[in-house]
Amino acid sequence: NLSSKSELAFLKELEIGPDNLGSFDGSWGGSGPVIESISPGNGEVIARVHSSTPDEVGNAITKAKESWPQWASMPAPARGEIVRQIGNELRKNLKPLGKLVSLEMGKILAEGIGEVQEYIDVCDYAVGLSRTLPGSLLPSERKDHVLLEKWNPLGVVGVISAFNFPVAVYGWNSAIAMVCGDTLVWKGAPTTPLVSIATTKIVAKVLERNGIPGSVASLITGGTDVGELLVNDNRVPLISFTGSTKAGKNVALKVQERFGKSLLELGGNNALIVTKDADLDMAIRAAVFSCVGTAGQRCTTTRRLILQTDIRTEFLKRLKMAFAGILGRIGDPIEESTLYGPLHSPAAVEAYKLTVEKAVKSGGCIEFGGKVIDRPGFYVEPTIISGLPASSDVVRHETFAPIVYILETNSLEEAIAVNNDVEQGLSSSLFTNNIGELFKWIGPLGSDCGIINVNIGTSGAEIGGAFGGEKATGGGRESGSDAWKHYARRATITINYGNELPLAQGIKFE
Ligand code: NAD
Repeated sequence: NLSSKSELAFLKELEIGPDNLGSFDGSWGGSGPVIESISPGNGEVIARVHSSTPDEVGNAITKAKESWPQWASMPAPARGEIVRQIGNELRKNLKPLGKLVSLEMGKILAEGIGEVQEYIDVCDYAVGLSRTLPGSLLPSERKDHVLLEKWNPLGVVGVISAFNFPVAVYGWNSAIAMVCGDTLVWKGAPTTPLVSIATTKIVAKVLERNGIPGSVASLITGGTDVGELLVNDNRVPLISFTGSTKAGKNVALKVQERFGKSLLELGGNNALIVTKDADLDMAIRAAVFSCVGTAGQRCTTTRRLILQTDIRTEFLKRLKMAFAGILGRIGDPIEESTLYGPLHSPAAVEAYKLTVEKAVKSGGCIEFGGKVIDRPGFYVEPTIISGLPASSDVVRHETFAPIVYILETNSLEEAIAVNNDVEQGLSSSLFTNNIGELFKWIGPLGSDCGIINVNIGTSGAEIGGAFGGEKATGGGRESGSDAWKHYARRATITINYGNELPLAQGIKFE
């Protein structure tokens, strides 16, 4: 019972109660199966959420499509003004919404708040974009002709997001899609429904205040079956999917079957390389956050540490000391002093246990951690495993937990080969002060990932760049740079302003 728990009083500010409706198409509904929202910090039920029925999913798409002409006909800067107000409304709710992320997802408070800040940042970015969305004017080979390239909105964009960034991923997609002129139907993870509802309420308030239908930013709630209805609907020209490679592949194939577009942000298997020319103090500090931040549940978490032989022993010794310091800071994620929180679910704890067992069976040596922590909630020890070849199954597989494998190499070339020899291609880092190594790393024969860092860890991207990865990470790009192009259709327009009809390539048809 929420009202009896004074520490959960902040939920009232977000209009979250013990019972919540999870379908929004301008008005709230939700008559599908009830989902319990569970706090990973103690395993207790926080609230119940009424998920969406197939009819409610259909209605959300219908309403988002109906509100599209009004939204798409507004000048882009006017849409930007709405997104600016959404950013401001989020600023007002920064702490309560950040706290809810921490409570329901299980990441520490600073990271929960950081995620809402990321949505605010991308709103600011999108406001600027709304006044600079470019097109081009290209020279024509024909007299008195001109070519224009214009970007028009797509229509309804379906956003399916993962549990680990329950606010920011929607933020990246929605702020940019909205200024591009698209309307949205969002399905968040089935285990973070309260965050989706609270975020949708914040956005809806701004839309309604401006006389814009709330269905511009609709919400559906549920698991794979609800997601599939969105994926298979012909009225949704773009599905932006964030989640595992396995699910993303299914989604991509389904969307392709109906010639829709998909934007895929899938799993990673990120490596951090430390060469003998690196600043070890910096490398260790960066590695600690990249390995254990969010309890290893970031898509960009460092899963492989590739150490040059000369520094391996020293680095590992100091890394273990730093991990030991983290053990003293385990706690309820919502407490400000906590640095290391729980895994998200019992299933995640199970996957962690199985992976550790498999690693040991394959000959791995547990250098640190390796056990489930005996306390309420879903806590496991941050874990370092050495002694496995880079080619072993567990090392090549993304386990969404705080497990890092120590790999050893003798040269940068060898380290790059190991970095690239996995099916995923999301994030990668090199620590070096050798300028030659730096340029090899970022060059054509260097890292094959979408994110290539130097002297910082693999996680913690900024919104100004395009975020995403290659290969089995899906190839999508979100947030900054020209990622907005995913949310628009390109039209090549040829205009004849003369009074003759010359054909291209000088063809005569007379
Ligand atoms: P998941 O694949 O289990 O679920 C992600 C979302 O997809 C959920 O909303 C789920 O309900 C939905 N879903 C699953 N199967 C579906 C289907 N067939 N059709 C439609 N919807 C479907 O992933 P998760 O466990 O929530 O998240 C962890 C994974 O997400 C990790 O692999 C992580 O690396 C990845 N991730 C990637 C990025 C990125 O930007 N590259 C960001 C965050 C998380």
